[in-house]
Amino acid sequence: MEHSIIINPATGEEIAKYKRLTTAEAKDKIAVSNTAYTNWKLKTYEERAVLMHKLAAILDENKEEYAQLATREMGKVIGQSRKEIEKCALICRYYADKTKELLADKMVKTEATKSYVTFQPIGVILAVMPWNFPFYQVIRFAVPALMAGNTGVLKHASNVQGCALALEGAFIKAGFPVGAFSNLNVDSKHVKDIIEDKNIVAVTLTGSDPAGRSVASIAGQNLKKTVMELGGSDAYIVLDDANLEQATDLATLGRLQNNGQTCIAAKRFVVLDTIYDEFLALYSQKMKAAIMGEPTDEASYYGPMARADLRDELHEQVLKTVAQGGKLVLGGEIPNRKGAYYPATILADLKPGMEGFDNELFGPVASVIRAKDDADAVALANNSQYGLGSGVLTTNNERGEKIALQLEAGSSFVNKLVVSDPRLPFGGVKNSGYGRELAAYGIQEFVNTKTIWID
Ligand code: NAP
Repeated sequence: MEHSIIINPATGEEIAKYKRLTTAEAKDKIAVSNTAYTNWKLKTYEERAVLMHKLAAILDENKEEYAQLATREMGKVIGQSRKEIEKCALICRYYADKTKELLADKMVKTEATKSYVTFQPIGVILAVMPWNFPFYQVIRFAVPALMAGNTGVLKHASNVQGCALALEGAFIKAGFPVGAFSNLNVDSKHVKDIIEDKNIVAVTLTGSDPAGRSVASIAGQNLKKTVMELGGSDAYIVLDDANLEQATDLATLGRLQNNGQTCIAAKRFVVLDTIYDEFLALYSQKMKAAIMGEPTDEASYYGPMARADLRDELHEQVLKTVAQGGKLVLGGEIPNRKGAYYPATILADLKPGMEGFDNELFGPVASVIRAKDDADAVALANNSQYGLGSGVLTTNNERGEKIALQLEAGSSFVNKLVVSDPRLPFGGVKNSGYGRELAAYGIQEFVNTKTIWID
């Protein structure tokens, strides 16, 4: 019998194990989800909203328990885990209150007596989700999908199965029908069988681009729609008029929050030549001062990475970048302590062709890149296989906006780290994926956008 084994990344100790489902058991749960769909799709938005508000209340009431669970399973510092649960409740309330408006019929004037576009649910959606925001990523998919009248099945990352079960329990406790939202603890090698199940109508994946390629190609073979939220190597351009105190504070938070493991985190800092040395000196001081510690300790600025194998892979990327001529300014050594810790690290003078420039560094490692002028900075920022988030730091908003419009990314923020906000669409271009989550754009991904014509 197979199990997913949960290791606390702060200690390296096994804390739980959960039995995996066989493919046949998973298919049974999908059939239940499809049965639930036949009734759920007939509910009104108001009826669904009542349950969604209950789910928000359950998330609020159990915030501490859920936050401690996330921290235990993937190492996020506890304050950030609490914020994650709060954001989940916010998403529930946003879609509970807004879905009727977001999915309202759109009348279109034609030669018909009456013609309009209506948005109808499509069935059971499969979500393959990552561990880095173990509650939020799931909620960001499930809440709009269910409010639109679909049902959902979750294949969560193996190392956060406790969070997956807690979420399944929360939906049940809120009064959602059995099968409206179900957890499938399956090995990723069985995801193909799940996608091919006749009751699965579409797939959304948040994770790395190799996982995205695999899942999207299987779904493509089966003509099932996909949304892909993949990796990123977000560039932040630091212009020569930037407030360097503010810029280095943002750069420190950007690289260390969630222990450096956020898809939309600032990863490559493209700094104009005239302020490059000053930026680097101040940034090094701040990254060095940030406290790495137990994730349950409120004083810790950042904790361990989620898994030791991911920490070891990141270290290999750092060594490779240095061997390619990158300058190690800070960190870069695996500490002599238990757990999957990696110190705040800065790699400077990076150029295209180096590992730290070309690929995603998913941990507390910053890439610093020198640019001659604004045009060179834009070219370096866009010289990437990814295009998820991006940013510009400047005291001149007009100059910042002009540059933001030239960046090849799903979002560009001026003087702020990229955040996901339910009122605005979220997603990427290039190898960061396709499709959008959140706002009207997200909820309209998994519906039948249907034309009605009355002659
Ligand atoms: P991952 O290894 O790709 O895993 C993500 C999910 O996909 C997990 O549930 C994993 O299951 C599953 N999976 C992996 N390979 C698969 C395959 N070949 N077929 C089917 N399922 C497969 O990514 P991760 O390490 O958890 O997360 C880090 C990556 O996600 C980073 O690149 C990050 O930038 C990206 N990310 C993107 C967003 C966004 O919104 N764009 C948000 C968060 C993270 P197992 O755990 O069982 O392997």
